[in-house]
Amino acid sequence: MVHIQYSNCYTNGKELMEKRVVIFIDVDNTLLNNDHIKDEIKKSLIRVLGNKEANHFWQHHEEFREYKKLVDFPNIIHEYCAEKHKNTCDLTLSRIFENIEFSHALYPKAIEVLKYLKTLGKVVIFTEGDSIYQRRKIEQSGLASFVDGITLYEHKLEHVGELTKKYEGYKIVIIEDKSDTLLKIKEQFPAIFAIEVCQGHYATIDHKEHSKLDMTVDSISDLMNFNDKRLNILSL
Ligand SMILES: [Mg+2]
Repeated sequence: MVHIQYSNCYTNGKELMEKRVVIFIDVDNTLLNNDHIKDEIKKSLIRVLGNKEANHFWQHHEEFREYKKLVDFPNIIHEYCAEKHKNTCDLTLSRIFENIEFSHALYPKAIEVLKYLKTLGKVVIFTEGDSIYQRRKIEQSGLASFVDGITLYEHKLEHVGELTKKYEGYKIVIIEDKSDTLLKIKEQFPAIFAIEVCQGHYATIDHKEHSKLDMTVDSISDLMNFNDKRLNILSL
């Protein structure tokens, strides 16, 4: 196995010669700085609710996430407000989420990378979350207009199998910031080319198993280096 080192990024040198390529790309902390968005939400909640109640809201958030394994802000708001018994609660908190400018949170060169990846194959958003807030995030950020499709699930790992069937005969590439998600995918579907993007708070997780993935890059903009000869992994 040949490892080509540059910065913290590497590839195992696999040549993917297939004619058809489909690239599934994650949104949160891959194309969009979701840590920054969450910080903005935290500040707005403190402004509207005060420190104590904002903490209470995040308790609801954590509990919801724990039992549903999902971040679903519309439902979290609903649950929190049901407890508060205030008519205006839903409206006030929903407004915070409606006013987020997702386009300001795109990582540098995120759109350029999508345009470049489209020259290599089909590019499909592969994300998880609720169907209202997460979809709005994809559309309002502008990402939706630069991809060939959007796949949005509550738990995306459960859908990798059906996607591999749908794209039988294609070389499948998955780009994602969570290494544990990629490792699970690689374990079940070794033929998938897994690219880890070390951005956001998951990037601090112990990465000793990096070598099981096909490529690791420091930032999404590094994918522009795909046209470099040494990273000619997706050329047709
Ligand atoms: Mg992510």
